[in-house]
Amino acid sequence: MVEMRKLNKHFGSLHVLKEIDLSVTPGEVVVVIGASGSGKSTLIRCINGLEEFQSGMLDVDGNRLVPLGKSTKALQTIRTEVGMVFQQFNLFPHLSVLDNITLAPMKVRGQSRQEAEATAKRLLTRVGIADQAQKLPTQLSGGQQQRVALARALAMEPRLMLFDEPTSALDPEMIGEVLDAMRELAREGMTMVIVTHEMGFAREVADRVIYIHKGEITEQGPPEQLFDAPQHERTKSFLARVL
Ligand code: ADP
Ligand code: MG
Repeated sequence: MVEMRKLNKHFGSLHVLKEIDLSVTPGEVVVVIGASGSGKSTLIRCINGLEEFQSGMLDVDGNRLVPLGKSTKALQTIRTEVGMVFQQFNLFPHLSVLDNITLAPMKVRGQSRQEAEATAKRLLTRVGIADQAQKLPTQLSGGQQQRVALARALAMEPRLMLFDEPTSALDPEMIGEVLDAMRELAREGMTMVIVTHEMGFAREVADRVIYIHKGEITEQGPPEQLFDAPQHERTKSFLARVL
């Protein structure tokens, strides 16, 4: 689903991603961990073309992104096939919950309103907020807004879902409901790349955990290995700080 080879990303003189090799197979759940500023967001933003990169190669579900943004056609396809959920929910504030979800399927996929609304209602039921469809985002709690963001991404029937610290902006009591929805999605076989600081959740849902340090993947492996028997000193000291 994702094939990244020797990818390098710079912001000016800052070398943010260094020779990153990363493959994600269909149905795999990959969790990315690492200190603030290590390049986690940049890495997943490259996967859906939100950031261009300077060298290397990236295939996303067979669509090739080349360095320096010269892949307009692939970019369009990737943006419709890859769903993303951000730390800040990024809902359209002036649209109802229902309209937030139906907008892209109608505009991008050409679905009828009726079809898009039927899907939206099914997805809202699935994330447990069917009764909130007519409200504006500001009338919902953070946890509910993030579940709308998830439903909105799923309405495009993504082949791959990216999450960038989806629970970091939430009050503690709302974290569980968002993680539950993500856990359910993982169980259904969705391919997912998740940046999170929720180590318990990572241990439970990840097929593979990747530790990134200053733009390099320094260690990766199944959660039992990475959390219980890390090989590298850097991984050990990071885990000692967060666990
Ligand atoms: P993380 O998500 O792991 O906290 P980021 O990927 O957001 O890390 O950032 C990695 C590095 O790139 C940081 O040093 C950050 O300051 C820098 N960076 C991120 N986005 C930009 C940008 N748009 N312009 C310049 N530097 C950036
Ligand atoms: Mg980040």
